[in-house]
Amino acid sequence: MPSEHKPLIDPFGRAISYLRVSVTDRCDLRCVYCMQENMVFLPRDELLTFEELERLGRIFIRLGTKKLRITGGEPLVRRDVMRLIDTLGQELGANGLAELTLTTNGSQLTRHAAGLAAAGVRRINVSLDTLDADRFRAVTRGGRLQQTLDGLEAARAAGLRVKINTVALRDVNEDEFDDLIAWCGRQGFDLCLIETMPLGETGEDRVNQYLPLSLVRARLQHRWTLARDDTPGLEGVAPGPARYWRVAETGQRIGFITPLTEHFCDSCNRVRLTCTGTLFLCLGQDDQADLRTPLRDGATDVEMEAIIRAAVARKPKAHDFIIDREQPTTKIARHMSMTGG
Ligand code: SAM
Ligand code: SF4
Repeated sequence: MPSEHKPLIDPFGRAISYLRVSVTDRCDLRCVYCMQENMVFLPRDELLTFEELERLGRIFIRLGTKKLRITGGEPLVRRDVMRLIDTLGQELGANGLAELTLTTNGSQLTRHAAGLAAAGVRRINVSLDTLDADRFRAVTRGGRLQQTLDGLEAARAAGLRVKINTVALRDVNEDEFDDLIAWCGRQGFDLCLIETMPLGETGEDRVNQYLPLSLVRARLQHRWTLARDDTPGLEGVAPGPARYWRVAETGQRIGFITPLTEHFCDSCNRVRLTCTGTLFLCLGQDDQADLRTPLRDGATDVEMEAIIRAAVARKPKAHDFIIDREQPTTKIARHMSMTGG
């Protein structure tokens, strides 16, 4: 069998069919769990060019990637990013890619929603932690809620399906989950609650921010009728590290990403490519492979495939995130915006 037809399988038997690509470390917001207020961003020549990103995207697709997510930083603030998305969209269908998608804070969607749909994107994740304009400004350190709401309206008008990502933050938005569920129900959006993960210094105390979702789900079950619904995603496997429930009262789904209280690493099907061309095998471990150097040194596709296979052969079994008073330091120094959340 030619090497490109052998699927990427890690040492624990997990098929790697999902690539998340961070196209920039920059962002127009500074969410309190994600970044520091004063971030120093990378110089432009550190970033992979669109040509390099496209080439790696195609190599991964040949190696069995079925789902590709563009993320960041805020992907829609990278100049001309729609050019990259258009090109990757051409890999959909006969060329082997089943889904091209995006995670965004929504601030630029009024400009780009129609273009995303035209490129073949069918659904997107939009991060939104609160429906209160003052809280939004505080959590994002200066963002405007209405800009994201307008972006969501544009996404709907373009026919994009939307899932809202909400990081659960103690004393910040924990009183809003009922409202968010009801609002998502009215809008026709799924909702995914996420535990804050100890990635990079943010200038905030993560112990204070951390809210275990095991508690939240128990609380929500008093008010809402939740039935397990892990309908497989387009790539035919359970939707990664989230567990989903159908909310009977709204008809929409609610997911819980619980890396701290209950991880689902057994079903992990993904790897992450940073905007500088480093391949991370796990969000919560440092195992990595530099793809940019061989790419810029003229490696052939066959050589790049061998490097990627060797990296996947080192994918760790699981992360070991922990947030508590006894271990206050952040083990993983890089921010989520670097690795691509
Ligand atoms: N800027 C885009 C956005 O906000 O959707 C894409 C990149 S952002 C890093 C991707 C996702 O990671 C967002 O849903 C964000 O809420 C989440 N995130 C960032 N830092 C996190 C952390 N420390 N723990 C948990 N989720 C985090
Ligand atoms: Fe920017 Fe997304 Fe990080 Fe917020 S979560 S600071 S929007 S990259």
